[in-house]
Amino acid sequence: MIRTTVAGSLPKPAWLAEPEKLWAPWRIPDDLLFEGQSDAALAWIKCQEDAGIDIVSDGEQFRKHFVHGFLEKIEGIDWNKMTTMGIRNDRYDAQVPTVVAEVKRTGSVHGAGAKFCKEHTNGQYKFTLPGPMTICDTIANGYYDTRPDMARAFARLLNEEAKELEALGVDTIQFDEPAFNAFTKEAAEWGVSILEEAADGLKCTTAVHICYGYGIQENLDWKETLGDEWRQYEDFFPALNASKIQQVSLECADSHVPHEVMAILKDKEILVGAINVATEEIETPEKVCATLTAASEFVDPERIIACTNCGMAPLPRHVAEGKLQALGAGAELFRKSL
Ligand code: ZN
Repeated sequence: MIRTTVAGSLPKPAWLAEPEKLWAPWRIPDDLLFEGQSDAALAWIKCQEDAGIDIVSDGEQFRKHFVHGFLEKIEGIDWNKMTTMGIRNDRYDAQVPTVVAEVKRTGSVHGAGAKFCKEHTNGQYKFTLPGPMTICDTIANGYYDTRPDMARAFARLLNEEAKELEALGVDTIQFDEPAFNAFTKEAAEWGVSILEEAADGLKCTTAVHICYGYGIQENLDWKETLGDEWRQYEDFFPALNASKIQQVSLECADSHVPHEVMAILKDKEILVGAINVATEEIETPEKVCATLTAASEFVDPERIIACTNCGMAPLPRHVAEGKLQALGAGAELFRKSL
């Protein structure tokens, strides 16, 4: 049976945060924030289940940004010492906080939101956390000797958090590692093994999401420079296939990634991105089905899970809803075609 899921983030309702914007500030006061985030997550769980999405996400309604949402509750980071850093290998500049001491987790970061969502999910619930390498590419290092040292320190904290989420009933923990595509050599050298440290000892399903980024202009411009064939995945897929991570989430819709690279991941379940998040045009179910069919030339259908290319946070809400429905309907067509 072909299952369906989403990469992670979904748009925030306009009453919760400014729409169509990353890092958008909250629009409701602090004392109402958790209640508002919970209501927004509930709406998305319902929308996903209605669209036939089997493994749902909270759409990251409880955090402003997929990386900083985790970092906000970590000790050892100075948020007043903002550093301008060229992130994803200088693709774009961002103002990032600085690590100034040993990083420590002082308590649960995402537990309350995850517990609420699990209680209101009929099927399976997936939780996304930033991967260690991507965290290190989104924060300035003013303390650790090397980037891998800092990544290892964050992997320990992620592992503690992941184990707590697993105990709350989360079915899948997904680590987001878009930085793997920007640093393909380093991903093979240390990124994959440190990612395994973050997932160490988990009994729930584990996944990694590796995309070419949100559909923001900086990413679109970067993609223009990559040529006709995007072979970045090839550099580190052998290491990833040898790892203990069970699922790999990839960008496939309207992508220049040659599908044959998926053949390297012969021992993994593949979350085939069949929804392009860089356009507001809503796919037809037939188009979704065609992307899944193309992937099935290189991946046994029983290892395919239909997914989106990346998070849909920057899209208008109604567009994301339409894309969820297209994903569910397209996966159903694919099932019937088998
Ligand atoms: Zn992504």
